[in-house]
Parts: sequence; structure tokens; C-alpha cells
Amino acid sequence: MPHLLPFIGSTSPAETQRWIHALQAAMPQERVVPLSALDAAARESCEVAVVANPHPEDLRTLPRLKWVHSVWAGVERLIAGLQDLDIRIVRLVDPQLAATMAEAVLAWTLYLHRDMPRYARQQAARQWIEQDYLRPERKTVSILGLGALGIASAASLRQAGFQVCGWSRTPKELPGVTAFTGEAGLHAMLARTNILVCLLPLTPHTRGLIDAQALRALPPRASLINFGRGAIVDALALREALDAGHLAHAVLDVFEREPLPQDAWEWSHPAVTVLPHISGPTDYDTASAIVAGNVLAYRAEGILPQAVDRQRGY
Ligand code: NAP
Repeated sequence: MPHLLPFIGSTSPAETQRWIHALQAAMPQERVVPLSALDAAARESCEVAVVANPHPEDLRTLPRLKWVHSVWAGVERLIAGLQDLDIRIVRLVDPQLAATMAEAVLAWTLYLHRDMPRYARQQAARQWIEQDYLRPERKTVSILGLGALGIASAASLRQAGFQVCGWSRTPKELPGVTAFTGEAGLHAMLARTNILVCLLPLTPHTRGLIDAQALRALPPRASLINFGRGAIVDALALREALDAGHLAHAVLDVFEREPLPQDAWEWSHPAVTVLPHISGPTDYDTASAIVAGNVLAYRAEGILPQAVDRQRGY
């Protein structure tokens, strides 16, 4: 008898079907089903579930649930929603996701490095003006967060010739990356940064981290790319820094409220590029293969994959 493996998500019906199909293909020996297909007796048998932003009350209907495998990398909503449930949370760590994110970081860094927003404005005004060019070696790109995504992004930026700095909670040694930790380290790094890339998780410590003081610590005309989470950047402080011309441009892929509300100022700000949370999309097939590896190791040998540290928040 195959094990029952429920998929629980607040995904659209089409997305849920895609996930179930991809997960089932990666795990022929499991029976991957939507939660709604399981009656109370079947729910009694489930020790593990695959989740994509699940409603916490759905997880409460599985009395023997020991762990959940998220198909997303960010887990702040899961941690908040499962506060009172003793369930291990495993997040997606996928080299394909890291490669896709590194591509996005390089693409939008080059967009800023080659002054594309300014040339678009010049074209709209029919202006033929050559701006000064600085080689990438003379620009510093700093990454907040040197985890799975930050490390891959740092490597691709190095390869493109940029000076690369990075900031993390614990000290790091990475080839060609000047690494910083702590509050003093953050401000020392910001002071030498031309393009700041946020790849941090949202935790109690990182919420509002990029505030007015942090933005002031950047040299005039630096730019920001936020691919981590919206609430890490203080939106009001960001708007003020852009309006004052201290910050040249912001590329924002993540927002405190998503989808970004129609009346949000970011849509029409001339120095903002709005992206609809697309910098690091999960690949159904590679993610399913990773989930399969973890589920199979658990079924065969009871091995539990590394879990999120709820105290730390990521
Ligand atoms: P990760 O491997 O857990 O890495 C997180 C990094 O942040 C680590 O280097 C960690 O430091 C650092 N960090 C955490 N709290 C910190 C603090 N208080 N001060 C300094 N550094 C801190 O996570 P990941 O896989 O790289 O993903 C990062 C985030 O990207 C996710 O949480 C998610 O929010 C976001 N994301 C966005 C998209 C998108 O499409 N926009 C897609 C996927 C993920 P240590 O190394 O010292 O632990």
C-alpha cells in the first residue's frame, strides 16, 4: 500500500494540480493527494505533508502530522501560523532556485549598472546624452543575506566583474567576497555600496532593517534591489530617500502586501521598477525531486531533513 502524502496549499486549483502531478511523478511509490480527498480515517495515517502557504487550520486536521515540507524557500508565514503546533518545518533548498535567483540578481544589477532606467527616461524626453561609463570593477554590489540564494548570487556577480560584499548573521568566508556581520559591519558595508541587494529572510530581526538610517548610510545615488521580503525595507523611508534623490533607483520584487495594491505609490514612482514576485520562481520538477528525496529518506530510514529554526525565524 502506498503511503498517503497530502498536498496542502492556498494555491489556485490549477497550481494545486500542477504540484500534485509533479510530486506524484517524482514519487511513484507515494499517493499524492489534495487534502480534500482524505476522510478522517485517512488523515489519521499522515505523518508528513507537502505544503505551499497552507491554512494552519488545515494542518490541524492531521492529528499525527510530524513534519511538513514547504515548496517555497521563505517560511515566515508558516512559522507564524504554526506557532502552537509541534510540527517540524522543512523549507525548499534547491540549487535550481539559487541559480534562477542568481540570474535575476545579475540581470537587474546590470540594468542599474548600465543606467537603463535613465536611458528610458532620456528616450521619453528625446534626449541624446551619453552618460559616463564605469567598469563593473569600480562598482560594489553588496548582498544582505549570504545563504543559499546570496552565495549563488555573489558568485555570478563576481564572475561579471563587480566588487562584491555580503552581510550575514554568522561570519562567512567566500572567495572574492568581502564579508561583514553585525550592526557595525552592516553600516561599514553600506558606506561602500553602489547597488544593495536584499536576499534576507523576514524575521523579527530583519523586519524594517533597511530604514531611514540604513538608507542614509549608503553613498548618494546608490540603488536598491529587494528580492527578499517587502517588510525588510521601510517603504516610507525608501520613498523619502528616492524623492530626495539620495537613492537613484529601487527594483522591488516583494512587497508588504501582495499583489501590490492598485493605489500603491510604487507603481508610478519614476525611480521604482515594480516586479510581481518573479525573481526566484520555484521550478515544479526540481523542487518535487528535492521533496521526493527527503520524503523517501524519511520513509526508508526515518531520517528527518534539516528543519527551520523557529527561534531564529529562518
Ligand atoms: P537562507 O539560506 O536561510 O539564508 C538566509 C541568509 O540571511 C543567511 O546568510 C543568514 O545568515 C542571513 N540572515 C538571517 N537573519 C539575519 C540577521 N538578523 N542578520 C544578518 N543576516 C541574517 O535563505 P535563502 O534560501 O538564501 O533565501 C533567502 C530569502 O529569499 C527567503 O527567506 C525568502 O524570503 C526570499 N526568497 C524570495 C524569492 C522571490 O522570488 N523574491 C524566492 C525565494 C526566496 P547566516 O548565514 O549567518 O545564517
